[in-house]
Amino acid sequence: MKTKSFKIGNKIIGGDAPILIQSMCEFKTSDTKKVIDEINECEKLGADLMRVSILDEDDIKAIKIIQQNINIPLICDTHLDLNYAIESIKSGADGVRINPGNTKNLKKLDELIDTAIKYDATIRIGINFGSFEGKNKVSQSIKEIDKWVKYFENRSFKKIVLSIKTTDVKETIKIYEKLSKISNYPLHIGVTESGFDDIGIIKSCAALSPLLLKGIGNTIRISLSQDPKKEILTAKRLLHSLGLYNDYPTIISCPTCGRCKVKNIKEIASKTLDFLEKNNINIKVSIMGCVINGIEEGKNADIGIAGGDKEFILFKKGKIIKKVSNEDAIDTLFKEIINLKKCD
Ligand code: SF4
Repeated sequence: MKTKSFKIGNKIIGGDAPILIQSMCEFKTSDTKKVIDEINECEKLGADLMRVSILDEDDIKAIKIIQQNINIPLICDTHLDLNYAIESIKSGADGVRINPGNTKNLKKLDELIDTAIKYDATIRIGINFGSFEGKNKVSQSIKEIDKWVKYFENRSFKKIVLSIKTTDVKETIKIYEKLSKISNYPLHIGVTESGFDDIGIIKSCAALSPLLLKGIGNTIRISLSQDPKKEILTAKRLLHSLGLYNDYPTIISCPTCGRCKVKNIKEIASKTLDFLEKNNINIKVSIMGCVINGIEEGKNADIGIAGGDKEFILFKKGKIIKKVSNEDAIDTLFKEIINLKKCD
């Protein structure tokens, strides 16, 4: 679904722009050193924008310092306080996230909109799905967000990003499918409070994949009870697996079975991905348990390795190039990957 597009800081959201990956800092914003380090580490892993929470004046003061030391857009989440949203924009935030339904002070909301227009900042209207009750919560939440979109549009504000987040997979899919039909503003998609490790990852991917495959979603957050770096990496891997993010390595590794005579397929696969990520080598590598099926199944990979009898077979595009001992397998594979990269 092609949405409107506009700039958030130095990035473009919506339209034909790539899906932006985002996360939220886990430190208090006034702890500038930690926040700056975290944002820069996340950027290296693939973050396109980062959000921070604004709880007091110290956090507002920190925005300027943070902005001077990062390269990606900074979004401020001011929760209930529209004054903080206004001040955040004046201090240099590229955008703010608010829930307009939380305010009765429409004059203040208008002041925020005017400030955002003046400073060319975006506003994410984030509706809290939990505040709706009854059977038709999805329709209610869509109606609510539509009401606010019209309110913003009536005040000539167009740099709007929309989100309605829930912890439920099916509800998330339903909400965003409907939202994408009634609105052409960029959508921030994600499952809120999805959990940790594989629980949160599976839940997020289950909800976001059908949406992303339909072209719904312009920025994503995988919300985990974990380090934001994990969120960024997971988002990148999800987009890559859906063919929506190219600059990332592909690992094909088999589950192994009775035909496999080597024991360290998982270790090799995991070390290889680590090596490719660290060296920014975005090729397809196949790590297979046996020669019988491994070479054939891995023939679409740029390079691969398949377990034999006490040795490994190395192959490129399905053609065997050498045999290596178990001990030398990883080092030899890495050397060949570097050679491959040099020949590019
Ligand atoms: Fe089994 Fe070989 Fe297939 Fe791996 S590649 S699952 S070891 S048959």
